[in-house]
Amino acid sequence: ALRKAGTGRARFFSQDLQAHLAGYAEVRSALVGALEREEFFLVYQPQVCAVIGRVLGVEALLRWQSPALGQVPPDRFIPVAENVGLMPRLGDWVLASACRQAGQWRAEGKSLRVAVNISATQLEDSQFSDRVRAILAEQALPAEWLELEVTESMLVGDVAECQRALQAIRRAGVKLALDDFGTGYSNLAYLRHFTFDTLKIDRLFTNAMNNDSSGDALVRAIVATGSELGLDIVAEGVETAEQAEALRKLGCSRMQGYYFSRPVPAAEISVMPGIDAADEAPTLL
Ligand code: C2E
Ligand code: MG
Ligand code: MG
Ligand code: MG
Repeated sequence: ALRKAGTGRARFFSQDLQAHLAGYAEVRSALVGALEREEFFLVYQPQVCAVIGRVLGVEALLRWQSPALGQVPPDRFIPVAENVGLMPRLGDWVLASACRQAGQWRAEGKSLRVAVNISATQLEDSQFSDRVRAILAEQALPAEWLELEVTESMLVGDVAECQRALQAIRRAGVKLALDDFGTGYSNLAYLRHFTFDTLKIDRLFTNAMNNDSSGDALVRAIVATGSELGLDIVAEGVETAEQAEALRKLGCSRMQGYYFSRPVPAAEISVMPGIDAADEAPTLL
């Protein structure tokens, strides 16, 4: 009986695994040549000043419209792209495209800092900071208009090595944000090992603020400690006016979420209200 049950489980397991592998294989094969066929594009989500409501910047978010698979969400294809070795090239494309767009907005008199997500393979590349500098130079974009977002999960392993990589980026004058804060090690003390400019509170915490006072307490603690470390605090996933108001009171400096805007094409950002024509340097805090 045991053996039979075991076989049964094995059969179901291998079916699940097969389905999983088929999905992976489909994504993988559809990714081949996708960059050359120009199937990728960027959308931008505004980051709004918590105090005066002005749009301070945008986060660039990668989209893939595959002729074979339709629109595949980034959480689904980026890990695959990473595995098949496409990510350094695709990441480079994202960075160059976002910086070109930021340069274009500047030319239109719109001061918007652009935030770009980077992946582990980009950060691990010893040439990465040189590449960032080269792209900024190509687009004549001052470094402080670019913010790079990394996640805690990328900072595992050799702490000294990670520190070197991050410092090389900051030495270039580029801002550095820790994305999805609270979903990884959730260790504020750990942050002291690295120099960030910005802390992005994961939307899980923003969500917890809805009807839960312990959720409020958690965010309050993150904001207080983060501010003490001199970090600019961004709340992700703000979906309601109540959340926005609570986050503002707690001292978050930037907010991002569907309440303000979904990620939209660059052209929609250009006509968004609340974007100053001023050309001053962007201010943090
Ligand atoms: P992320 O960097 O944390 O980006 C925020 C995600 O939350 C985005 O999902 C955004 O559309 C979504 N979001 C924003 N506001 C709200 C809200 O109010 N409610 C809810 N429920 N969601 C909200 P998206 O665009 O699907 O991206 C998912 C993840 O994929 C990103 O998380 C990031 O980790 C990764 N990603 C996206 N673009 C890139 C890229 O160019 N390079 C790399 N390496 N990763 C990227
Ligand atoms: Mg991000
Ligand atoms: Mg995030
Ligand atoms: Mg995320």
